[in-house]
Amino acid sequence: MKTIVCIEPGILEKREVERPSPSAGEVLVKIKSIGICGTDIHAFGGNQPFFEYPRVLGHELSGTIASLGEGVDLPVGSSVYIIPYLNCGDCIACNNGKPNCCTNIEVLGVHRDGGMSEYICVPASAVVIADGLTFNDMAIIECLAIGAHAVRRAQLSEHDTVLVQGAGPIGLGTAQFAKVAGAKVFVSDIRKDKLKFCKEAYSLDGVVDASGDVNAQLAALTDGQYPSVIMDCTGNVNAMQSTFTNLAHGGKIVFISVIKKSICFDDPEFHKRETTLLGSRNATAQDFEFVVSCLKNGSVVSSSLITHTGKFSELFEDFNQWTKPENGVIKAVVEMDE
Ligand SMILES: [Zn+2]
Ligand SMILES: [Zn+2]
Repeated sequence: MKTIVCIEPGILEKREVERPSPSAGEVLVKIKSIGICGTDIHAFGGNQPFFEYPRVLGHELSGTIASLGEGVDLPVGSSVYIIPYLNCGDCIACNNGKPNCCTNIEVLGVHRDGGMSEYICVPASAVVIADGLTFNDMAIIECLAIGAHAVRRAQLSEHDTVLVQGAGPIGLGTAQFAKVAGAKVFVSDIRKDKLKFCKEAYSLDGVVDASGDVNAQLAALTDGQYPSVIMDCTGNVNAMQSTFTNLAHGGKIVFISVIKKSICFDDPEFHKRETTLLGSRNATAQDFEFVVSCLKNGSVVSSSLITHTGKFSELFEDFNQWTKPENGVIKAVVEMDE
């Protein structure tokens, strides 16, 4: 089978390798669509710390069940998406129903080889059968589930005014689920073209130019009350630190993006608001199911997220283009050649 390996930063190589066969408890999935994520772009760009090469990228995956390992009983041929977070099932987080932050987590395409291949073997517990969605939609369920999980963490309601920081795919997914929860939603970004795109694509209640005075713009949008929830998807230390002083009293901060730095805040600012600070990591099967239901009932639309598609055979040229911000890529999806 064909596979595409990221040999070292900036270099993808097409290889012909033997098709894997599923061990006991595993499923062989024939890949149909692969969503391209910030993680892939950063790994390709060499700015994903602690990332080991060579690595087959790709963790946003859909396909069909090709064959089964011993002890697995699933209908061969059915359409599936893959939950790419492989958890141990045995640690404190797993035992407390939080496999998304398992102490031994392995993410496909990050800690072990992902799905930029014609086939991949995964544990049967990582595949979910889903009918009635396109393979491209199924490939971005993971990306959307990150936002759905964060919104669930924040327990948003129609009483909330939410600022989502960062208009990338995770931010825009988060904004959509905040709308589904009934909240008033603003999105901020430093790129005006992205703000224009998302203002047109979603019925947002406002956009904030993050290159300007964010605090003043938020004061104007909220009658001086400020957002009751700020959800950060920027991966930018300054943006993350600004949340502590841009938040409403009694509000919540949710850090979705992760950075390899320390975050500093002023305790009086934190305390006077009785701030709730939440981290949000990955997503659980419950979030994936919720995303599927939203895609099916149309409350969340993939067409406003997927801006580019390409073929597996043409991935090399496309990938270089997709990494350039000026090309306006929100989300690219690679389709397998028939
Ligand atoms: Zn992803
Ligand atoms: Zn675990």
